[in-house]
Amino acid sequence: EGGMERHQYDVVVVGAGGAGLRAAIAAHEAGARTAVVCKSLLGKAHTVMAEGGIAAAMGNRWPEDNWEVHFRDTMRGGKMLNNWRMAQLHAQEAPERVQELEDWGALFDRTEDGLISQRDFGGHKYARLAHVGDRTGLEMIRTLQQRTVQLGIDVFMECTITEVLKDDGRVSGAFGYWRESGRFITFEAPTVILATGGIGKSFKVTSNSWEYTGDGHALALRAGAALINMEFVQFHPTGMVWPPSVKGLLVTESVRGDGGILRNSEGKRFMFDYIPEFFRSETADTEEEADRWYEDKKNNRRPPELLPRDEVARAINSEIKAGRGSPHGGIFLDIASRRSPEFIRKRLPSMYHQFKELADVDITAEPMEIGPTCHYVMGGVEVDADTQESAVTGLYAVGECSGGMHGSNRLGGNSLGDLLVFGKRAGEAAAAYAAGLPARPAVDEDDVKAASASALAPFEVEGGENPYSIQQDLQQSMNDLVGIIRTAAELESSLVEIEAFKERAKGMVVEGHRQYNPGWHLSIDLRNMLIVSEAIAKAALAREESRGGHTRDDFPQTDNEVWGKKNLVVTLDAAGTGVELSEKPLPVMPDELKKYFD
Ligand code: FAD
Repeated sequence: EGGMERHQYDVVVVGAGGAGLRAAIAAHEAGARTAVVCKSLLGKAHTVMAEGGIAAAMGNRWPEDNWEVHFRDTMRGGKMLNNWRMAQLHAQEAPERVQELEDWGALFDRTEDGLISQRDFGGHKYARLAHVGDRTGLEMIRTLQQRTVQLGIDVFMECTITEVLKDDGRVSGAFGYWRESGRFITFEAPTVILATGGIGKSFKVTSNSWEYTGDGHALALRAGAALINMEFVQFHPTGMVWPPSVKGLLVTESVRGDGGILRNSEGKRFMFDYIPEFFRSETADTEEEADRWYEDKKNNRRPPELLPRDEVARAINSEIKAGRGSPHGGIFLDIASRRSPEFIRKRLPSMYHQFKELADVDITAEPMEIGPTCHYVMGGVEVDADTQESAVTGLYAVGECSGGMHGSNRLGGNSLGDLLVFGKRAGEAAAAYAAGLPARPAVDEDDVKAASASALAPFEVEGGENPYSIQQDLQQSMNDLVGIIRTAAELESSLVEIEAFKERAKGMVVEGHRQYNPGWHLSIDLRNMLIVSEAIAKAALAREESRGGHTRDDFPQTDNEVWGKKNLVVTLDAAGTGVELSEKPLPVMPDELKKYFD
């Protein structure tokens, strides 16, 4: 490696989704020399795929809406396990962050009065999601990307970070490789902000793309930080189920927000059978009331199709299991019989094309077939609510790879708000810390050597297995044993299987050279997927109750006395090859906020 490429920065942001870009903008504006590193092309993050909108209590549709109501909805949606301070900051600051996007050139859909329009989504009391048709993420990423480039922030595209480097317990930089050439690169920097997104690719059926291999989660663990809430994985109720090549692809919740309903094979609108006690007083119990709600929200309660995602996904799962599913193993989502073709094409243009092109289904004329799909991880790096700093000095995490904000279940629209609010906070905090350092931590050359040896290990193995077969088996195993409904016996088997996958991965072999070699890239990602999968399965086995995105068939009750008061914390074990669990009490909500939950 004659003269490895090196760069010096104050702040290195890993990830160029909404969280990473917003953090980089904030760090740059605070005067820090800032770099953004992303493993795919700029603009190709998950954020661009976001459809429905950004939750922010701007009160444009409903003047009654304000941060207090949004805060309450978020906490209730997360079944009170959220970090209250993060939920509060998010609800308070999201409107400003959306307004700022508009100042930077984002064009949102409008109300009749010319204000930013807001749409209905599950779990939100009022229409609250600022949106651009069903392509909100595209407009958000376009705006942030344009600003990043305008400000002259350095971007390293198609560059994957594989290790966070440390000096005396503090961050000193990051190590990675260029996907194209396979050559290594070292960043010397006192702060690293992880903004790598989620973990969905560990499951077979998912709305996530190849990038979601839990890199930030694993990087943080290996650097000595902790993860929380890892047992909580969100299965979105509506993914495509057919044709097989697109199984898992997302069907936005806006279909239901705009009037779509769920029916089983008997034509029954079954969600009325699944209204939980916790939400009974705010949910319509007749079709008439539910239908009136779209026009008159003051005098009617919400349709049960718009319960939080965990409730709807479980209901769909039960109907399919009971033999009342659709021909391809899903359930029917019908907007065709409820809204005019013009309305559907205007409000849901991407969905219209998605079904037309991929499934040859005209959603203005016939129902869609849908089923649950692994969508989002509530769990992530444990961070300080105000600064997003982890337990490791100089290491920050923001966006989907951070934990705490969403508790046991995230409300739709609350991720995009999260990226903006906490992206800004993390960027500012990292810049301030870097600026205040009397001397910069140094990169240890031995750590760089170790990182490159570890990355190259799969080239040294002879006669081993290729990473693709291990990945496939892991995805199937996670889907079958750590999915939407869990039991102790299945979770125990999953942990046995994960150990076996880890053994197999030790003998992983990759063919060919370092120049653009997807097999090699996967071998590196797979280590992350394995450790993150272990974290999910271990936490899921330990939490003996059902709550939000964690349903135990053997512990169906929500146990507020015991489990409602604590988090499970995941850290790397002493050997550094697996993870271990500990428990931590939830931060205590101050009385002036408790009053919203009486
Ligand atoms: P991402 O946007 O995924 O960005 C991750 C970045 O990290 C990428 O640039 C990637 O290349 C980079 N990266 C990863 N690993 C590495 C590494 N090792 N080295 C270098 N770079 C790396 N939420 C809402 O609030 N509203 C919605 O309407 C909505 N719709 C959605 C629709 C779909 C189909 C999906 C999949 C999600 C949706 N979500 C929605 C969720 C939301 O989009 C995501 O949670 C959010 O965009 C995550 O943003 P992020 O910045 O944390 O990560």
